[in-house]
Amino acid sequence: MARVAVVTGGTRGIGAAIAKTLKTAGHTVAANYAGNDEAAQKFKAETGIAVYKWDVGDPAACADGLGKVASELGPVDILVNNAGITRDGMFHRMTFEQWHAVIRTNLDSMFAMTRPVIEGMRERGFGRIVNISSINGQKGQMGQTNYSAAKAGVIGFTKALAQENAAKGVTVNCVCPGYIDTDMVAAVPEDVLKKIIAGIPVGRLGRAEEIAEAVTYLASDKAGFITGSVLTINGGQYIAN
Ligand code: NDP
Repeated sequence: MARVAVVTGGTRGIGAAIAKTLKTAGHTVAANYAGNDEAAQKFKAETGIAVYKWDVGDPAACADGLGKVASELGPVDILVNNAGITRDGMFHRMTFEQWHAVIRTNLDSMFAMTRPVIEGMRERGFGRIVNISSINGQKGQMGQTNYSAAKAGVIGFTKALAQENAAKGVTVNCVCPGYIDTDMVAAVPEDVLKKIIAGIPVGRLGRAEEIAEAVTYLASDKAGFITGSVLTINGGQYIAN
Protein backbone atom coordinates (compact mmCIF):
# COMPACT_ATOMS: atom_id res chain seq x y z
CA MET A 1 0.00 0.00 0.00
CA ALA A 2 1.21 3.53 -0.83
CA ARG A 3 1.97 5.56 2.27
CA VAL A 4 3.60 8.82 3.34
CA ALA A 5 7.24 8.42 4.35
CA VAL A 6 9.69 10.83 5.95
CA VAL A 7 13.42 10.24 5.58
CA THR A 8 15.73 12.42 7.67
CA GLY A 9 18.97 13.36 5.97
CA GLY A 10 17.17 12.23 2.83
CA THR A 11 18.84 14.46 0.26
CA ARG A 12 22.36 12.98 0.23
CA GLY A 13 24.11 9.64 0.69
CA ILE A 14 22.26 6.71 2.21
CA GLY A 15 19.16 8.80 2.97
CA ALA A 16 18.84 9.94 -0.65
CA ALA A 17 19.01 6.32 -1.81
CA ILE A 18 16.35 5.36 0.76
CA ALA A 19 14.07 8.20 -0.34
CA LYS A 20 14.39 7.17 -4.00
CA THR A 21 13.78 3.48 -3.29
CA LEU A 22 10.72 4.27 -1.15
CA LYS A 23 9.39 6.41 -4.00
CA THR A 24 9.97 3.60 -6.49
CA ALA A 25 7.99 1.33 -4.13
CA GLY A 26 5.03 3.72 -4.58
CA HIS A 27 5.25 5.81 -1.41
CA THR A 28 4.93 9.60 -1.19
CA VAL A 29 8.25 10.73 0.25
CA ALA A 30 9.43 13.78 2.17
CA ALA A 31 13.21 14.14 2.35
CA ASN A 32 14.47 16.23 5.26
CA TYR A 33 17.89 17.91 5.36
CA ALA A 34 19.89 20.28 7.56
CA GLY A 35 21.35 23.14 5.55
CA ASN A 36 22.89 22.09 2.22
CA ASP A 37 20.27 23.80 0.04
CA GLU A 38 22.23 23.24 -3.16
CA ALA A 39 22.32 19.44 -2.70
CA ALA A 40 18.65 19.45 -1.66
CA GLN A 41 17.48 21.43 -4.69
CA LYS A 42 19.54 19.24 -7.03
CA PHE A 43 18.02 16.13 -5.42
CA LYS A 44 14.50 17.58 -5.73
CA ALA A 45 15.01 18.47 -9.40
CA GLU A 46 16.40 15.01 -10.22
CA THR A 47 13.86 12.94 -8.30
CA GLY A 48 10.71 15.03 -7.90
CA ILE A 49 10.82 14.22 -4.17
CA ALA A 50 9.69 17.01 -1.81
CA VAL A 51 12.45 18.39 0.42
CA TYR A 52 12.04 19.95 3.86
CA LYS A 53 14.72 21.77 5.85
CA TRP A 54 14.89 21.45 9.60
CA ASP A 55 17.37 20.37 12.28
CA VAL A 56 16.60 16.89 13.62
CA GLY A 57 18.30 17.73 16.91
CA ASP A 58 15.74 20.43 17.66
CA PRO A 59 12.46 18.98 19.02
CA ALA A 60 10.39 22.10 18.24
CA ALA A 61 11.72 22.24 14.66
CA CYS A 62 10.91 18.52 14.21
CA ALA A 63 7.34 18.98 15.47
CA ASP A 64 6.85 21.96 13.12
CA GLY A 65 8.44 20.22 10.16
CA LEU A 66 6.47 17.01 10.64
CA GLY A 67 3.28 19.05 11.00
CA LYS A 68 4.01 20.71 7.66
CA VAL A 69 4.68 17.35 5.98
CA ALA A 70 1.42 15.91 7.38
CA SER A 71 -0.64 18.89 6.21
CA GLU A 72 0.93 18.88 2.72
CA LEU A 73 1.29 15.12 2.08
CA GLY A 74 -0.87 13.35 4.67
CA PRO A 75 -0.32 11.45 7.96
CA VAL A 76 3.17 9.99 8.30
CA ASP A 77 3.10 6.17 8.35
CA ILE A 78 6.79 5.55 7.64
CA LEU A 79 9.64 7.28 9.46
CA VAL A 80 13.27 6.61 8.58
CA ASN A 81 15.58 8.18 11.16
CA ASN A 82 18.70 8.36 9.02
CA ALA A 83 20.34 11.78 9.56
CA GLY A 84 23.71 11.52 11.24
CA ILE A 85 27.04 13.23 11.62
CA THR A 86 30.54 12.40 12.86
CA ARG A 87 32.96 14.59 14.84
CA ASP A 88 35.82 12.15 15.32
CA GLY A 89 38.67 12.44 17.79
CA MET A 90 40.37 10.45 20.53
CA PHE A 91 38.39 10.76 23.73
CA HIS A 92 41.32 12.19 25.73
CA ARG A 93 41.32 15.14 23.33
CA MET A 94 37.57 15.35 22.64
CA THR A 95 35.69 18.54 23.53
CA PHE A 96 32.19 18.54 24.97
CA GLU A 97 31.05 20.34 21.79
CA GLN A 98 32.28 17.38 19.66
CA TRP A 99 30.59 14.95 22.04
CA HIS A 100 27.33 16.82 22.24
CA ALA A 101 26.96 17.62 18.51
CA VAL A 102 27.05 13.90 17.71
CA ILE A 103 24.72 12.84 20.54
CA ARG A 104 22.30 15.60 19.59
CA THR A 105 22.07 14.85 15.86
CA ASN A 106 22.31 11.06 16.06
CA LEU A 107 20.46 10.25 19.30
CA ASP A 108 18.39 13.22 20.54
CA SER A 109 16.91 13.15 17.02
CA MET A 110 15.36 9.74 17.77
CA PHE A 111 13.20 11.39 20.42
CA ALA A 112 12.64 14.64 18.54
CA MET A 113 11.52 12.96 15.31
CA THR A 114 9.67 9.94 16.65
CA ARG A 115 7.72 11.53 19.50
CA PRO A 116 5.53 13.71 17.20
CA VAL A 117 4.49 10.79 14.93
CA ILE A 118 4.15 7.85 17.31
CA GLU A 119 0.73 8.71 18.72
CA GLY A 120 -0.80 9.05 15.24
CA MET A 121 0.71 5.71 14.19
CA ARG A 122 -0.72 4.01 17.29
CA GLU A 123 -4.15 5.54 16.70
CA ARG A 124 -4.21 4.46 13.04
CA GLY A 125 -2.90 0.99 13.96
CA PHE A 126 -0.04 1.15 11.50
CA GLY A 127 3.50 2.46 11.52
CA ARG A 128 6.97 1.62 10.29
CA ILE A 129 9.99 3.16 11.99
CA VAL A 130 13.45 2.31 10.71
CA ASN A 131 16.45 3.74 12.53
CA ILE A 132 19.91 3.89 11.00
CA SER A 133 22.59 2.88 13.48
CA SER A 134 26.10 1.76 12.48
CA ILE A 135 28.60 -1.09 12.67
CA ASN A 136 30.49 1.24 15.03
CA GLY A 137 27.54 1.32 17.42
CA GLN A 138 27.74 -2.48 17.55
CA LYS A 139 31.48 -2.98 17.96
CA GLY A 140 32.78 0.43 19.13
CA GLN A 141 35.37 2.32 17.12
CA MET A 142 38.55 4.04 18.23
CA GLY A 143 38.26 7.81 17.69
CA GLN A 144 34.46 7.62 17.81
CA THR A 145 33.39 7.37 21.45
CA ASN A 146 30.70 9.97 20.76
CA TYR A 147 29.43 8.28 17.58
CA SER A 148 29.67 4.73 18.98
CA ALA A 149 27.73 5.81 22.09
CA ALA A 150 25.02 7.51 20.04
CA LYS A 151 24.66 4.63 17.59
CA ALA A 152 24.56 2.01 20.40
CA GLY A 153 21.86 4.20 21.94
CA VAL A 154 19.88 3.96 18.72
CA ILE A 155 19.87 0.16 19.05
CA GLY A 156 18.55 0.30 22.64
CA PHE A 157 15.95 2.88 21.64
CA THR A 158 14.79 0.63 18.79
CA LYS A 159 14.39 -2.45 20.98
CA ALA A 160 12.47 -0.64 23.72
CA LEU A 161 10.18 1.23 21.33
CA ALA A 162 9.48 -1.99 19.41
CA GLN A 163 8.18 -3.63 22.59
CA GLU A 164 5.98 -0.66 23.47
CA ASN A 165 4.29 -0.52 20.06
CA ALA A 166 4.13 -4.06 18.70
CA ALA A 167 0.51 -4.58 19.71
CA LYS A 168 -0.49 -1.37 17.89
CA GLY A 169 0.72 -2.40 14.44
CA VAL A 170 3.81 -0.20 14.68
CA THR A 171 7.13 -1.92 13.98
CA VAL A 172 10.48 -0.45 14.94
CA ASN A 173 13.69 -1.80 13.47
CA CYS A 174 17.27 -0.78 13.14
CA VAL A 175 19.79 -1.13 10.31
CA CYS A 176 23.52 -1.12 11.01
CA PRO A 177 25.47 -0.28 7.85
CA GLY A 178 29.15 -1.02 7.53
CA TYR A 179 31.28 1.34 5.45
CA ILE A 180 29.17 2.76 2.62
CA ASP A 181 30.47 4.87 -0.25
CA THR A 182 29.04 8.31 0.72
CA ASP A 183 30.38 11.80 1.57
CA MET A 184 30.73 10.66 5.21
CA VAL A 185 33.20 7.94 4.21
CA ALA A 186 34.88 10.23 1.63
CA ALA A 187 36.02 12.27 4.66
CA VAL A 188 38.07 9.28 5.92
CA PRO A 189 41.81 9.63 5.00
CA GLU A 190 42.80 7.43 2.02
CA ASP A 191 45.33 5.29 3.92
CA VAL A 192 42.78 4.62 6.68
CA LEU A 193 40.14 3.73 4.08
CA LYS A 194 42.50 1.24 2.39
CA LYS A 195 42.96 -0.54 5.72
CA ILE A 196 39.20 -0.53 6.32
CA ILE A 197 38.49 -2.09 2.90
CA ALA A 198 41.16 -4.75 3.53
CA GLY A 199 39.10 -5.75 6.59
CA ILE A 200 35.83 -6.17 4.67
CA PRO A 201 35.49 -9.82 3.53
CA VAL A 202 33.33 -8.83 0.53
CA GLY A 203 36.30 -6.67 -0.55
CA ARG A 204 34.64 -3.33 -1.21
CA LEU A 205 32.62 -0.54 0.32
CA GLY A 206 28.88 -0.96 0.42
CA ARG A 207 26.52 0.97 -1.84
CA ALA A 208 23.81 3.25 -0.49
CA GLU A 209 21.25 1.36 -2.60
CA GLU A 210 22.09 -1.85 -0.72
CA ILE A 211 20.98 -0.20 2.52
CA ALA A 212 17.96 1.40 0.84
CA GLU A 213 16.54 -1.90 -0.41
CA ALA A 214 16.59 -3.38 3.11
CA VAL A 215 15.06 -0.27 4.67
CA THR A 216 12.30 -0.23 2.06
CA TYR A 217 11.45 -3.84 2.83
CA LEU A 218 11.33 -3.14 6.59
CA ALA A 219 9.05 -0.18 5.82
CA SER A 220 6.65 -2.27 3.74
CA ASP A 221 3.31 -3.73 4.79
CA LYS A 222 4.87 -7.18 4.21
CA ALA A 223 7.33 -6.77 7.10
CA GLY A 224 4.72 -6.66 9.88
CA PHE A 225 6.22 -9.58 11.84
CA ILE A 226 9.70 -8.02 11.98
CA THR A 227 10.12 -5.72 14.96
CA GLY A 228 12.95 -4.93 17.35
CA SER A 229 15.45 -6.40 14.93
CA VAL A 230 18.96 -5.15 14.27
CA LEU A 231 19.95 -5.81 10.67
CA THR A 232 23.67 -5.88 10.00
CA ILE A 233 24.69 -4.89 6.44
CA ASN A 234 28.47 -4.67 6.34
CA GLY A 235 30.02 -7.07 3.82
CA GLY A 236 30.94 -9.47 6.64
CA GLN A 237 33.20 -6.95 8.42
CA TYR A 238 31.58 -7.57 11.80
CA ILE A 239 29.32 -10.55 12.23
CA ALA A 240 27.11 -9.69 15.17
CA ASN A 241 24.38 -11.88 16.62
P1 NDP B 1 25.94 11.99 4.57
O1 NDP B 1 26.92 12.82 5.32
O2 NDP B 1 26.27 11.57 3.17
O3 NDP B 1 24.50 12.71 4.55
C1 NDP B 1 23.98 13.17 5.74
C2 NDP B 1 22.56 13.66 5.55
O4 NDP B 1 22.04 13.98 6.85
C3 NDP B 1 22.48 14.93 4.72
O5 NDP B 1 21.26 14.93 4.00
C4 NDP B 1 22.44 16.02 5.79
O6 NDP B 1 21.81 17.22 5.38
C5 NDP B 1 21.62 15.33 6.86
N1 NDP B 1 21.81 15.90 8.19
C6 NDP B 1 22.94 16.02 8.91
N2 NDP B 1 22.70 16.64 10.08
C7 NDP B 1 21.36 16.91 10.10
C8 NDP B 1 20.50 17.58 11.01
N3 NDP B 1 20.95 18.07 12.18
N4 NDP B 1 19.18 17.72 10.68
C9 NDP B 1 18.71 17.24 9.50
N5 NDP B 1 19.48 16.60 8.60
C10 NDP B 1 20.79 16.44 8.89
O7 NDP B 1 25.67 10.72 5.51
P2 NDP B 1 25.54 9.17 5.12
O8 NDP B 1 24.57 9.01 4.04
O9 NDP B 1 26.88 8.60 4.98
O10 NDP B 1 24.96 8.59 6.49
C11 NDP B 1 23.56 8.43 6.71
C12 NDP B 1 23.36 7.68 8.02
O11 NDP B 1 24.00 6.41 7.95
C13 NDP B 1 23.96 8.39 9.22
O12 NDP B 1 23.13 8.20 10.35
C14 NDP B 1 25.27 7.68 9.42
O13 NDP B 1 25.72 7.79 10.75
C15 NDP B 1 24.89 6.28 9.04
N6 NDP B 1 25.99 5.43 8.63
C16 NDP B 1 26.76 5.74 7.57
C17 NDP B 1 27.78 4.92 7.18
C18 NDP B 1 28.64 5.20 6.00
O14 NDP B 1 29.56 4.43 5.78
N7 NDP B 1 28.38 6.21 5.21
C19 NDP B 1 28.10 3.70 7.94
C20 NDP B 1 27.20 3.46 9.04
C21 NDP B 1 26.19 4.29 9.37
P3 NDP B 1 22.65 18.37 4.56
O15 NDP B 1 22.82 17.83 3.19
O16 NDP B 1 21.77 19.56 4.64
O17 NDP B 1 23.95 18.52 5.30
